Amino acid sequence: MLLIAQGAYSQTSDQAINKPVPERNREYDALHYKIELAVDPAEKTLEGQNTISITPLGDNFKQIALDAVSLVATDVLDIKGLPLSFTQTEEKIFIQLGRDYSHRDTIIFTVKYHLSEPVSGLRFIEASGDRPLQVSSACFPNKAREWIPCYDATNDKVTQDMIITTSSKFKVLSNGSLINTTVHPNGTSTWHWNQKRPHASYLINLSIADYLVVEDSLDELPVNYWVYHSMADDVERVFGKTPYMIDFYNRVYDYPYPWEKYDQVISGYMGGGAEATSATLLGEGIVTDEFTEQDYYREYVIAHEIAHQWWGDLITCRSWEHTWLNESFGTYSDHLYTRYDKGADEGDYDLLLKKNAYLNEAHTRFMRPIVYTTYEQPGDNFNKHTYQKGACTLHLLRSILGDDSFFRTISTFLHRHEFESVTTYDFMKCLKDVTGKNMDWFFEQHFFKPGHPVLNISKEWDEASGILSITIQQEQDKWAYVPIYKLPVNIGIYTDQGKTVQKYWLKEKEEIIKIPLNQEPLMVRFDEGNYLLKEWSYKKSMEELLFQIDNDDMTGRLWAVDQLSEFAANPLAIDTWKKSATDDVFWAIRAAAIEKIGEFSPTENMDLIRKATGDESSRVRTAAIRSLGAMNDPSLKDFYKQTFKTDNSYAVQSAALIAIGKCGTKSDISFLNEAGKKPSYRDVVSSAAQKAMAQISGDQ
Ligand SMILES: [Zn+2]
Repeated sequence: MLLIAQGAYSQTSDQAINKPVPERNREYDALHYKIELAVDPAEKTLEGQNTISITPLGDNFKQIALDAVSLVATDVLDIKGLPLSFTQTEEKIFIQLGRDYSHRDTIIFTVKYHLSEPVSGLRFIEASGDRPLQVSSACFPNKAREWIPCYDATNDKVTQDMIITTSSKFKVLSNGSLINTTVHPNGTSTWHWNQKRPHASYLINLSIADYLVVEDSLDELPVNYWVYHSMADDVERVFGKTPYMIDFYNRVYDYPYPWEKYDQVISGYMGGGAEATSATLLGEGIVTDEFTEQDYYREYVIAHEIAHQWWGDLITCRSWEHTWLNESFGTYSDHLYTRYDKGADEGDYDLLLKKNAYLNEAHTRFMRPIVYTTYEQPGDNFNKHTYQKGACTLHLLRSILGDDSFFRTISTFLHRHEFESVTTYDFMKCLKDVTGKNMDWFFEQHFFKPGHPVLNISKEWDEASGILSITIQQEQDKWAYVPIYKLPVNIGIYTDQGKTVQKYWLKEKEEIIKIPLNQEPLMVRFDEGNYLLKEWSYKKSMEELLFQIDNDDMTGRLWAVDQLSEFAANPLAIDTWKKSATDDVFWAIRAAAIEKIGEFSPTENMDLIRKATGDESSRVRTAAIRSLGAMNDPSLKDFYKQTFKTDNSYAVQSAALIAIGKCGTKSDISFLNEAGKKPSYRDVVSSAAQKAMAQISGDQ
């Protein structure tokens, strides 16, 4: 769970491999795009024009370079409709203006073009099953240029009209407000969408299909769900909390939702989601049935994309090394929502998962600075560093600044830089302006350097002097570029008189904290409040772990349940796990305790594990079935079959099938074959059935 074994790797920063990617130079300020397109989803054709307004940023401006890949430009016209000469290369359109312009001019011109080949920036998707014929944009990070000639980088923002003519069979969605829809006698309609506040080109959305549009609202704000007709019964359950989430972020950021409306639209190509301005694209997988959420928490995806309407869309990373301004804030925001909506334990658990996701990446892929300038592709910066590590680091920053200063800083940042593109340095300055504190050191060690704290903690009680000594060694400097950290840590001292918490600042490679006490403490809690993203080793006595399991918060209890493995030979440890497995208020601890019993004492506690297959949490039930399954006991086969039939959790059903695979024979193949036909989230049940059948066949 929390810990990843130390020492078996030699991961270091790879920041020196490539050259830093500089922010792109601009020769003009793009102001507005009027995009008028005729689109035929069935024939996969697109033709039309973009009328572009720009202002030169220097004098002697006589040539415009636009980004354009794949699309074919046929004509370029000036504002009077007179042709301008142009050339097109693989990546650009160069337009000759015929005379010099200056920064005082606004130039308006029109590029006529069409698509002559499929592009990945605008997908023409065939109908199949419940999926309707559709057109779905995929502009991130620099693919708008495949279907719109434009300035395609995040350091410029434009307003936009999107005027789309297509068969009247379809509905058309884009950014901003719908100005009007005009029906033509020839069976086509024109949809005119207007984005009146500036945004970046990768946030453009064009979605065309025979959608079912379900209308909702938050006060005056229209909130609509553009889904497939087959999803009608799921809309309220899947999307119904959207207004409540927007309202939550309105208050958290102290900045009202910035756009004219919020639409979410299902896209047939998308995996997760993409935060197009006021029109988020979501993959089909977001629409799950009523049984899925108990096993696989998906609601946070909707919250995450809503948060991007501020973090990414209102303010936008100016170049991709500042991706964390979009994604760490998006991820921290979905964490804040989880904590707000599901409570402190689920919030703590979510934070733990985020920490572990980063630590796993740090050990298996790379350790990089969050602000990583030497990337090859923008997408390289979308990873567990810029999402989870950044989110956890913001949580630490908040703990240092205090809630008032932290939330005032982020609100001021949004107000100060609304509709702009920003860098990490803008945020650092804003923080100084709002709080008066110079936190450059914090950014230096957490954002500009790779790695994370690796702490070795030990403690000693001296009865004679009444002094508790806590020794903390920072060991992460074994990796190149990773610093010794300046870190705040809360130490909780638990005695029979209660708990006291004191904050200490770690600065050296090794520090010894001496605390005078009038009795030996029952527990010494390191990182009370769980603010640090750390790896750590901290050996405790069994007595202290038992006390911790009875008295600590969720994160501490979960850690102690795991640490108790050191004492698994002691019956008291097994008894404690049994108590946690049945009595703990939080499912993750009950599940962890079941796993421990399954690992160290399954046969003796078969009844208890079987009883846990009736737990209210599907994740505890899953852990219980897995623990039973590991025993390879054929006498449980009918129990697994019964569980498969009666439990409504796909994870439990899958675990039951896997368990049959471990103890079954060829006579069970027909049951597994039939079971595998059951539809489930991401086909987890049929995959489990396949795996079980393969195991039985292989074993015979
Ligand atoms: Zn995101």
